[in-house]
Amino acid sequence: MAESVELPGRLAILPFRNKVLLPGAFIRIRCTSQSSVKLVEQELWQREEKGLIGILPVQDAAETTSMDSMLSQGVGSESGERSSNVQVSTSDAHKVDGKNPSEVIHWHNRGVAARALHLSRGVEKPSGRVTYIVVLEGLCRFNIEELNTRGPYCTAKISPLEMTKSGYFLISIFYLLTCLEMEQVEQDPDFVTLSRQFKAIAMELISILEQKQKTGGRIKVLLETLPFHKLADIFVASFEISFEEQLCMLDSVDPKVRLSKATELVDRHLQSIRVAEKITQKVEGQLSKSQKEYLLRQQMRAIKEELGDNDDDEDDLASLERKMQNAGMPSNIWKHAQRELRRLKKMQPQQPGYNSSRVYLDLLADLPWQKASEEQELDLKAAKDHLDCDHYGLVKIKQRIIEYLAVRKLKPDARGPVLCFVGPPGVGKTSLASSIAAALGRKFIRISLGGVKDEADIRGHRRTYIGSMPGRLIDGLKRVGVCNPVMLLDEIDKTGSDVRGDPASALLEVLDPEQNKSFNDHYLNVPFDLSKVIFVATANRMQPIPPPLLDRMEVIELPGYTAEEKLRIAMQHLIPRVLDQHGLSSAFLQIPEDMVKLVIQRYTREAGVRNLERNLAALARAAAVRVAEREQVVSVSKDVHKITSPLLDNRLAEGAEMEMEIIPMGVNNHEISNAFRIASPLVVDEAMLEKILGPPRFDDQEAADRVATPGVSVGLVWTAFGGEVQFVEAMSVVGNGELHLTGQLGDVIKESAQIALTWVRARVADLKLAAAEETDLLQGKDIHIHFPAGAVPKDGPSAGVTLVTALVSLFSQKNVRADTAMTGEMTLRGLVLPVGGVKDKVLAAHRYGIKRVILPERNLKDLVEVPADVLSSLEILVAKRMEDVLEHAFDGGCPWRQHQHSKL
Ligand code: ADP
Repeated sequence: MAESVELPGRLAILPFRNKVLLPGAFIRIRCTSQSSVKLVEQELWQREEKGLIGILPVQDAAETTSMDSMLSQGVGSESGERSSNVQVSTSDAHKVDGKNPSEVIHWHNRGVAARALHLSRGVEKPSGRVTYIVVLEGLCRFNIEELNTRGPYCTAKISPLEMTKSGYFLISIFYLLTCLEMEQVEQDPDFVTLSRQFKAIAMELISILEQKQKTGGRIKVLLETLPFHKLADIFVASFEISFEEQLCMLDSVDPKVRLSKATELVDRHLQSIRVAEKITQKVEGQLSKSQKEYLLRQQMRAIKEELGDNDDDEDDLASLERKMQNAGMPSNIWKHAQRELRRLKKMQPQQPGYNSSRVYLDLLADLPWQKASEEQELDLKAAKDHLDCDHYGLVKIKQRIIEYLAVRKLKPDARGPVLCFVGPPGVGKTSLASSIAAALGRKFIRISLGGVKDEADIRGHRRTYIGSMPGRLIDGLKRVGVCNPVMLLDEIDKTGSDVRGDPASALLEVLDPEQNKSFNDHYLNVPFDLSKVIFVATANRMQPIPPPLLDRMEVIELPGYTAEEKLRIAMQHLIPRVLDQHGLSSAFLQIPEDMVKLVIQRYTREAGVRNLERNLAALARAAAVRVAEREQVVSVSKDVHKITSPLLDNRLAEGAEMEMEIIPMGVNNHEISNAFRIASPLVVDEAMLEKILGPPRFDDQEAADRVATPGVSVGLVWTAFGGEVQFVEAMSVVGNGELHLTGQLGDVIKESAQIALTWVRARVADLKLAAAEETDLLQGKDIHIHFPAGAVPKDGPSAGVTLVTALVSLFSQKNVRADTAMTGEMTLRGLVLPVGGVKDKVLAAHRYGIKRVILPERNLKDLVEVPADVLSSLEILVAKRMEDVLEHAFDGGCPWRQHQHSKL
């Protein structure tokens, strides 16, 4: 930028329509009109040295009026000077900036000398018209002394207006009075104050611009180097201000006026930036992230609506995403889930795979990755009370559970053994497990493994399968909603392996504390930590459980209940529960102890109490019907005084029809029962038992009846339902000495039958079953042995002694004692070996009303488990050898002895 410029006395004038070029400003213009092209050509293009031209604002006539009025209102009057307009008729050859309006235009009498910084020439095709592009720099103000509009372009006699350090140009007398020596001006205190003000405000603007665009550095330098009156022009030139204001600025020749005007404009610009910034901030503040999201979604929805794709999928996915965010997934799984979600978002709902992907993500979001039920401080005393309150008897088992809980209390992350309750159905395995959960304050979930043959049931199917699902464990965890429940693996002995894999091996992984930290469900396809789950298992029998699995568990056997125990359980637990479940109370139905005993004896013959509970429920149902019937016929008329409910008293006072209104009011059962207290509760008697439960299903006579013929003996076996009495029937028919066996027998029991037959045949003489030792018992005969209850598969070695007894009875044609049952494995040489499940077997015998039980001698120790009252009602006979069994099984002892006696 030139500090001072020597202006010639005459300048070519380029008019600017409604625009002002201020000193210090740069502008790029395109000259197309004849006059301007001529001007550029002659004044700039063809000159050797860089030429100067004058830029003069011109105004449409229509706009001058407003300008004039503005001026008269005082704009620009601060300067104390008024610019006058030169009116020129454009009827002559000159056109302003290529335009040739018919109306009069006004030439301003002040302009700015400009220097061309850059010129480029172009030729328009096809017209061949020459145009110029010129970059101009505004230099200094001048005054028009005389405008000459004749010629190809305007020229003017001018006088400079700007002050220089060295002095000022005294061309016009008029300006002599207003222009002062610059040095003098700079010392003027007003000018100094104004400069300071301007500098302050300019700095402020620069710093704001710096923050926004980081481009303030260059301007800052200018601020330090240029005189303020020049800076004022440069600043103002960069603002977007109205033409009038631009003119006003052009007219501000006095540096003080110019500075104050510029300060005002810079300040205004600053204010507008601040206001704009405030508004943006406010808007930004109001639109938090979620709101932005919401807005975008709304827009998206609107677009979809417009496209006809309108459904709630978007909302659906948004809520799914929210659910996923709150699921607390580990970071790697979260990434995996997000990937899947992104895929889902790109899919159309109708697209195959959309649903499966959706269901999968739902599962991921629902799984309790971190959510856990808060474990309370374990109170062993309370846990014990809880167990006692829920379960009668089972002292040892409860003690073992308390020990288990105590260890957990001392070492919560102890990898304790997995408890496995083994016992017949209905002995309380499930309810014990749920009591453990209650004692620990954890949620309880039961996973039924009965009949699970497919490994995929445990581990899930891969998602590539149609209809694939997660395994039962993951499904259970989703249902229970916490990652640390007590999980009951019910009927773990009922899993079996086949071609579809081995569920037991998957269970092994589940129960192994080393491996279950990252349990891999095929469907889930990401590891899930099962280590916080407390597993408890149940089984009816130990034998089918694969040994490696059994190895991981601590077996607790629940052998089944005696009749006395069942009676106590029924009186203390089952009856109150059943009554409550049916909306009854003892005020309605009473089941006396004797009747419960009858139900136990005649209607159930089981190790547990499930059927007993079912029968009691049947009684309660029947009673509920009667009570309900009676309620309907209750008359209020005379028995009013008996009704004690305050609810009814009120109604009575109002004289309302009570019976009509009571039930629909939704009064709960207890209130109804109080209100309609039946004078005498329903007491179950024998007749009612028969009416409701039907004729007795079992009686103690069964054994006597069935053993009434030779060839039948009573054995004790052990099944999944606990101990059972098993009759063995043997019969001989004409044949070729073959042995026929029926009754769904396994290999072991078939072998036992062979052994038994061989043993008996070998002792024909000893037992005096035939006349001579050589006689073959099977000559001309077939032997058929049948185990009744043919639908129940049977196996195991413990029927050995029973088989021999049946055969001896058959060949000797002597009845076995009907009150005696036996169990024991037998060797070929006649030794009686111990068997398992003695307690169950003895209890079963007791249930059947059997009085004498023959047991292998080495099983005597097991009798300590049998309740004393059962033992006292039974005669236990011990056998070491087969002969001992026979001795006890027949009336009057072993048959051969009888023979011996009779012979003697
Ligand atoms: P399981 O799982 O062994 O087949 P459950 O736990 O389902 O048997 O028990 C069947 C029913 O018998 C349940 O209602 C249970 O409360 C009840 N029950 C079993 N044993 C007892 C007991 N010792 N005391 C009280 N109720 C019992």
